[in-house]
Amino acid sequence: MSIDDPALLDIHRRLLDALERRPSSTRPALARDLGVSTSIVSLRIHELIAAGLVVESGSAPSTGGRPSRTLRLASALSPVLAADLGTRHARLALAEDDGTILDLVDLDIDTSSGPEVLLPSLADRFDAMLTDHGRASPGSVCIGLPGPIDPDRGSVDSGARLPGWHGFPVEQFFADRYRAPVAVENDADLLALGEHLAHTGIRSSLSVKAGSALGVGVVIGSRIHRGATGSAGDISHVRITGTGDEPCSCGKTGCLDTVVSGRALGRQWNRLTGGAAGTDDLIASAIDGDALAVRLLRTAGTRLGEALCLVAGFFNPDAVFIGGRLSTVEVFLASVRAALYTGCHPLITRRLIIEAASTGENGGVLGAIARAREIKPRA
Ligand SMILES: [Zn+2]
Repeated sequence: MSIDDPALLDIHRRLLDALERRPSSTRPALARDLGVSTSIVSLRIHELIAAGLVVESGSAPSTGGRPSRTLRLASALSPVLAADLGTRHARLALAEDDGTILDLVDLDIDTSSGPEVLLPSLADRFDAMLTDHGRASPGSVCIGLPGPIDPDRGSVDSGARLPGWHGFPVEQFFADRYRAPVAVENDADLLALGEHLAHTGIRSSLSVKAGSALGVGVVIGSRIHRGATGSAGDISHVRITGTGDEPCSCGKTGCLDTVVSGRALGRQWNRLTGGAAGTDDLIASAIDGDALAVRLLRTAGTRLGEALCLVAGFFNPDAVFIGGRLSTVEVFLASVRAALYTGCHPLITRRLIIEAASTGENGGVLGAIARAREIKPRA
């Protein structure tokens, strides 16, 4: 019988029809459905898998013997869309059902343009990525935003870092657009999830995003721990004594953010040097060994490490990961580590992993892909 034989094509077509009607069928179930022998179905399914039209998707519950593999149409494996947004930059991803990245796109954005302008343009870009890869619609979507998130509403819970975004229904916007489940998460939480999942053998971790602002995400058992109001890990506005009572964006003074965030350090650097280049110049100068820049980042790392001692002592995580731009400076990282070792009980630090985040610029988007896969309906 040749591959073009009408009888063979007919069985192929009937098998594809049956899998469209009943995803997760097994070979014996398909044989019963079509009224042909299991050996014929096995042979034809083998050909359809080789042609990339059908995939094995799991195992059916065993009825005594070896469990049968379940089958699905390859086209039913809808991809996921993920975005990690900063205030000026966004990284968008299209990924397969199994997390394999198909496309990554970097965009310069301006969140101050507001969600009514920015979100439709992001969705248009998502649409172009789907079209480029021949995909019709996503199975789920995850959007990371640089601000506090109301986990029940899927919206931004404060306009302090995202003016004009407070209460805008981000989750609803993408749910209406794609008719798929949508998760809206804080960027530091997604970075924490992405970094956590990049390591094996750890159950709980803290991840610090030491960028222009300071953020901390908590992951327990491979899931984001949000807390009662979505603010778990937010230690940026804890008051630190001896900071010179710098005013903070939250309206208070002397917050951890005013001594550790890249934005605050850039301001200090400009004041001390009379320049205007801010954080980028500070980081470059510290890497070059400039004594003043090194001192500023050493102090910031020590302050952060001291604050993390309380969290690590309370939470006893397997790992503390430090990401964000400041983590690229060795003296900053070494000072965090030293303060943790000095300030924590040895039982806390005995096996504690303290490392620079390994996922770099991709941590947030990897976390967003993982979160999108988590909420995706399973066939
Ligand atoms: Zn504050």
